[in-house]
Amino acid sequence: MKSSVGIHQFMPDKVWKWKILEQKIAHILSLHDYQEIRLSVLQDYRVIHHGITALMLEEEAELATNAIINLSKPNGDLSLLTLRPEGTISVLHHTASIIKDHEVHRFYYLGPMFRKEGHNNPSEFHQLGVELLGSDSVMSENEVISLGMKILQGLGLRDARLLLNSFGCTACRPPFISDMKDYLKKNENRICANCFTTLYTNPFANTKCKDPQCKEIISNGPKILDYLCPRCKRNFDKVKKVQANLAHQYKVLPNLFKNFAYYNETVFDLVLNSNGAGVVVGGGGRYDYLSQMITGKNIPAVGFYLNIDSIFEIMDKRGLFTSLDKAFSVYISSQSEDLEMMMLQIAQELHANDIKTVLSADKHSIEEDANLAKKSECELMIVIRDENVREGKILLRNLIKEIQDYVALNSIMDEILLARKSLNRE
Ligand SMILES: [Zn+2]
Ligand SMILES: [Zn+2]
Repeated sequence: MKSSVGIHQFMPDKVWKWKILEQKIAHILSLHDYQEIRLSVLQDYRVIHHGITALMLEEEAELATNAIINLSKPNGDLSLLTLRPEGTISVLHHTASIIKDHEVHRFYYLGPMFRKEGHNNPSEFHQLGVELLGSDSVMSENEVISLGMKILQGLGLRDARLLLNSFGCTACRPPFISDMKDYLKKNENRICANCFTTLYTNPFANTKCKDPQCKEIISNGPKILDYLCPRCKRNFDKVKKVQANLAHQYKVLPNLFKNFAYYNETVFDLVLNSNGAGVVVGGGGRYDYLSQMITGKNIPAVGFYLNIDSIFEIMDKRGLFTSLDKAFSVYISSQSEDLEMMMLQIAQELHANDIKTVLSADKHSIEEDANLAKKSECELMIVIRDENVREGKILLRNLIKEIQDYVALNSIMDEILLARKSLNRE
């Protein structure tokens, strides 16, 4: 049944794929010295609200606040708890509590986040967050951007590419914003109301307007890249140069949409192909001003997120999940209640040898059991029957080679290990 709200159902047919995805991501991150942080799903509303709105303009802050899912008491009063909508705020608070001068910390977190989406529907989505904290060098930007590309490539997504822009710094941005506002006012009668309001609020916004006149006015307007101060310009050139040298495909997009009060200098999106179009599956940038606002400590930082739900879907569609080597397994059936103890003992002995077992839960004929065993992808089947046990033996069937034999009770383990060897499943 499809739920009307965005709730995940992770059933076994998908869980093994999620595990592969998570393991690959964790492996790549550990190679780059990133440490995992496991954040609480329940968060303090005041901390989250303060963090989210710290660098936002009023309109944006209101939208962001409305998207947070708060827990309310039965009487409808809002409690002071909220479901985690993002991870950066908690990571900054943690880092501020441990960081010493000139220290750099590398953290990541992966898990469900919660927000209200279109029509106010609560939704759960899986997100990876990667943060490098304590450095304002352009090297750290390149490290983080490259890491985003490496994760996607490491997952087999070879078409991964970058959209890049620079939002400048507090020195070079204000002249751009003021020129942009003048330009918009001058063209207020020629540009549509939506483009005007959107760009007046956020001069970096992508209005997605299809009106040719709007498009022309916007493309002839001021560009942040023409306003960058020497330092910002040098840094952005270096990012482009390093990414090109790493053979990372990129495109500079002067209106890459982000919350511009939050980010400074390099911002980026990570893009994949899906259904014949480019889809943004992640992105990030430098956010040097946020920590001071919410923790009181100046911690320059750069980070990115990946939308794991979208990435999972794209990987699944492309058939990029291949089953891990299947465990060698033995099906065990006992033909009477008196023999159940023996069935459990044999299973225990097999587990001690790291062999997986599937126990027959009900009484079946041998052929029924054989079918169930094959359905469970077992290589061997053991059938324990009173009349055989009295003679000190049990039936061992090799379901791959379609052969069977009676083996002495005291040599079951040896016979099974031998069969495993002959099937090359060690
Ligand atoms: Zn600058
Ligand atoms: Zn327009």
